[in-house]
Amino acid sequence: MDVTQRFILWVRTCCGSCRTSSSDSELKSDKKDIVVIRKTNPVEAPNRPLPPLPLKDIYVALYDYTARTVDDLSVRAGDRLVALNKSGEWWFVRAISGISANKEGFVPANYVAQEESIYAEPWYFPDTKRADAEKMLLSEGNETGAFLIRQCESQKGDLSLSVLDNGKVKHYKVRKLDNGRCYVSIAINFTTLKELVQYYSKNNYGLCVQLMEPCKKLQAPQTHGLSYNTVDHWEISRSSIQLLRKLGAGQFGEVYEGLWNNTTPVAVKTLKCGTMDANDFLREAQIMKKLRHPKLIQLYAVCSLDEPIYIITELMKNGSLLEYLQKDKGKELCFSDQVEMAAQIAAGMAYLEQQNYIHRDLAARNVLVGENNICKVADFGLARVFKLDNENVYEAKEGTKFPVKWTAPEAINANKFSIKSDIWSFGILLYEIITFGQMPYPTMTNYQVIQKLSTGYRMPCPANCPDILYNIMLDCWKENEVDRPTFETLQWKLEDYFELDLNSYADTNRIP
Ligand code: AMP
Repeated sequence: MDVTQRFILWVRTCCGSCRTSSSDSELKSDKKDIVVIRKTNPVEAPNRPLPPLPLKDIYVALYDYTARTVDDLSVRAGDRLVALNKSGEWWFVRAISGISANKEGFVPANYVAQEESIYAEPWYFPDTKRADAEKMLLSEGNETGAFLIRQCESQKGDLSLSVLDNGKVKHYKVRKLDNGRCYVSIAINFTTLKELVQYYSKNNYGLCVQLMEPCKKLQAPQTHGLSYNTVDHWEISRSSIQLLRKLGAGQFGEVYEGLWNNTTPVAVKTLKCGTMDANDFLREAQIMKKLRHPKLIQLYAVCSLDEPIYIITELMKNGSLLEYLQKDKGKELCFSDQVEMAAQIAAGMAYLEQQNYIHRDLAARNVLVGENNICKVADFGLARVFKLDNENVYEAKEGTKFPVKWTAPEAINANKFSIKSDIWSFGILLYEIITFGQMPYPTMTNYQVIQKLSTGYRMPCPANCPDILYNIMLDCWKENEVDRPTFETLQWKLEDYFELDLNSYADTNRIP
């Protein structure tokens, strides 16, 4: 039974006067397994009084969410909600305050947190790495005293307080006593983090500055799928997609900015007829859809019953990393931005590595860029189902074609693709990042590259590339795959690239 069916059953068993008759709320499908969102008038709030609710069922919206379907509920950050059905990644809730007060509908589960829990605090950023905390605190809208509390990367379970102090971010460990009380300075401890924050909001005893406003949240997280009913049924009706503007043309077809269900911006990849076998694609897409990570482009849905096949993904404002590097935006990037972008890609790839999934075509053209230089890996796994054909492709043997300059020798010569051949490609991607999108081996043909690599040749250090970064590239291009690093190692090496600024950790209790 899927979420919708469960919900309908719940409404039916709950009371006779519920807002929806089953014919209104049930999804209409003209073809098996296609979800068609019926366009009806927004449903009236129910008259049914709520039973007495335990506090644990009261939630607060952490971000604004605008309804995408008639079954959704629009909420603003801070609105209070009662969770009526918490199954899956979209919860059925009733708003008890705010813009949708007394209305019911679905909201993304990752947009809400239990009231009174630490997750509902505007200053609690649980899954935020130190580097991301710095980036957020230094971004527009935050002033001295802006702060957040996050989980400490180095010691699981420990928390860190990050504070903006005159353009610099300072980090403090939030330590715990055996009796559970917490402190930043041993001189004074607190029962809860909330008390600690309240105390340091009134005076800065021991801290660099008094805590002021919580750090601004850069953007809401991705929802899981487009809506509650595309999570399980992701073959969607073609008519629910409007193609608005062509974003680009790849080797397999055109990419458009689109609008789903008249509400939700998406990217639509239209695949040229004959570029792949639909069954092969669907098999791969089943796996791709399960791969979820903030640094991977999320596959939302497909229209695969007719050609051209549509692949619906999240939309990234700044397009491909390759174009971003080569055009004006690239000129605005400084070295630390480049390293940070590389670290993000390594993080996405470390997740694929953990999932035993191979990308097979990692390159700057297959990384997409959003706001604030956010990078996400795209097109993972597609190379396996595409019939490749472009100028960067070399046909080593009949039927096997590779983007040669990005492909590891063992993959070209023996069709041996692994996460270690992805590591090789990552080394080339580092070269692309540092050279602002130059073609690798600029003076060589694909054939020459293959010949030279077999003699031990490797690309020289690009101009203005520090040795530390070039050595990382060389590690990725080790002849023997087992000698190449893991993405996990690459991720922390890149994330910690600038961690040596010891001057900023002079005070007691600041994290070294
Ligand atoms: P591709 O077919 O993946 O090579 O895409 C062709 C071009 O379309 C890319 O170079 C990007 O500029 C653009 N593009 C592809 N996917 C997206 C997306 N999800 N969001 C924004 N732009 C995209």
